[in-house]
Amino acid sequence: MNLLLFSAADLCAPGEIRVADQRLQHLHSVHRAAVGDSVRVGEIGGLMGEGRITALTDRQATITFQLDCNPPPKLPVTLLVALPRPKMLRRILRGAAEFGVEHLVLFNSYRVEKSFWQTPVLNDATLRSYLLQGLEQSRDTVLPAVTLERRFKPFVEDRLPGLLQGRRGLLAHPTPGAGAAPSTADTPLLLAIGPEGGFIPYEVDMLQSAGLETVSLGPRILRVENAVTALLGRLLAPAH
Ligand code: SAH
Repeated sequence: MNLLLFSAADLCAPGEIRVADQRLQHLHSVHRAAVGDSVRVGEIGGLMGEGRITALTDRQATITFQLDCNPPPKLPVTLLVALPRPKMLRRILRGAAEFGVEHLVLFNSYRVEKSFWQTPVLNDATLRSYLLQGLEQSRDTVLPAVTLERRFKPFVEDRLPGLLQGRRGLLAHPTPGAGAAPSTADTPLLLAIGPEGGFIPYEVDMLQSAGLETVSLGPRILRVENAVTALLGRLLAPAH
C-alpha cells in the first residue's frame, strides 16, 4: 500500500480520518507505523496528499491530512479481456487499476468457461476491493470503469462501435502477419485480449469487421495476464 485510500465514510472530522480495517493492519504489519509518522493518503476519486498519524492502537488509527496533489493521468486505454479464471481475474483487476486503464470490459467468448461468470470476484464490493488494491499500489485515486459483457455477439455488434469512437482498436492475436503492438498511447486505444484458449476464427472475423487491427507481441504465446502486462507496459510514459 503506497497510498492509503479513503472515502467520505472514513472522515471523523474535516481533514481527519479514522481507519480500523485492513488498512490499519497494513499500517501495523508492513509500515510498522507509529504516532507522528507520515503516510501518503488519497480520497477515492479525488486528490492525494500527506497524512500524519495522530493516534494509533490495535483497534484504530487516526490520521490528519491535507490534499494538494492530483492523481497521475490515466493511460488512455479501454481494455477488453475475455473473462479469465478467477485467480487470473483478480490479478487482471489489480493490474488494470495499477496501470491506470480508464475502462475495463470483461467479455464472454466461446472459450470462456461458463462457470467463470459465477465467481464471487465479480460481486461489486469484491471487484472494487481488487481495483482499490491496484490504485493503492500505483498511487492513484480514480477507479477504472468496469463493464461486464456476458454475450459476445450483442456486445460486438451493439456496443463495441461506441467504445471505438475516437480510439484505435487493436486485437492482440499471436498470428503471423499481425502488426507490432504499439509502444505509445498518443492516440487513445482499445485493446482486446482473448481467453486462455484464444479466440475462435468467427470471433476474430467479427472483431476485425468491427474495425480492430490485429497486433502481436511476437511468436511467444503469453499467459493472458502476462500478455495484458506486456501490452500495457509498452505504453507507460517514462517522464513524470
Ligand atoms: N492458443 C491461443 C493462445 C491464447 S493466449 C491462440 O493461439 O490464439 C491468450 C491471449 O493472450 C490471446 O488471445 C492474445 O490476446 C494474448 N496473447 C498471448 N500471447 C500473445 C502474443 N505473443 N501476441 C499478442 N497477443 C498475445
